[in-house]
Amino acid sequence: GSVIFKNVSRRYGNIAAVDNISFTVEPGTLVTLLGPSGCGKTTTLRMIAGLEMPSDGQITIGDVDVTYLPATERDVSMVFQSYALFPHMTVIENVGYGLTVSGLTKAQQLEKAREGLALVGLNGFEGRLPSELSGGQQQRVACARALVLEPKVLLFDEPLSNLDAKLRRRMREDIRELQVKLGLTSVYVTHDQEEALAVSDRIIVMKNAQIAQIGTPNDLYDRP
Ligand code: ADP
Ligand code: ADP
Repeated sequence: GSVIFKNVSRRYGNIAAVDNISFTVEPGTLVTLLGPSGCGKTTTLRMIAGLEMPSDGQITIGDVDVTYLPATERDVSMVFQSYALFPHMTVIENVGYGLTVSGLTKAQQLEKAREGLALVGLNGFEGRLPSELSGGQQQRVACARALVLEPKVLLFDEPLSNLDAKLRRRMREDIRELQVKLGLTSVYVTHDQEEALAVSDRIIVMKNAQIAQIGTPNDLYDRP
């Protein structure tokens, strides 16, 4: 389903972290929130997840008004900058974690978790612990964990910021490929223009808690 923001604001005391923004994320597209630190990207993303509530405005996901719906009742999953894996669980347990309440049998959960690992190119890593993996591999596990839940909306909060430059380039291409292949509806936060250009269908440029520009990578940066 689509994600729609209508005149959404989030204030902390006198400070507006997000000031009256409106936008639509079309189903099957990846939209990036791009802008410098402090411009309101994370707050916007967290309002989609239900981890922050708006002070004003309306948010819908698909046909559901989620404006004040708790995070646990929203069909979204998030990939964090810090991976946020469970350190004492194996890779396959991490990927399957969200499926334990899904009504699937143990065998079906395992099968789905394996499929998720295959999608991110980590077959054979099932029994490893997160600490035995590189940062890039850990982030792939986190992506698989989010993907197997088949959420209506996938959220990415600076997912590549902890990785070195070479790995970032590689991973952004992989994310783009997965996005297209699976037809995901995604919202992606980054302060890195190159990264935004590589992964996005549309880019929302934020500045001082507001939207400065919205367009395709070609519209905004006049690429060949
Ligand atoms: P980012 O690196 O994504 O910009 P920050 O480091 O600014 O994030 O913020 C990290 C966490 O601290 C977030 O959960 C954010 O909501 C919270 N936070 C940011 N600024 C403040 C503030 N001035 N007072 C209280 N909490 C804040
Ligand atoms: P970005 O993700 O673009 O770095 P944020 O959404 O984290 O920006 O923050 C936007 C603004 O809101 C910043 O000025 C930040 O300090 C402020 N802010 C974010 N969270 C909080 C909070 N919990 N309390 C007070 N101020 C906050």
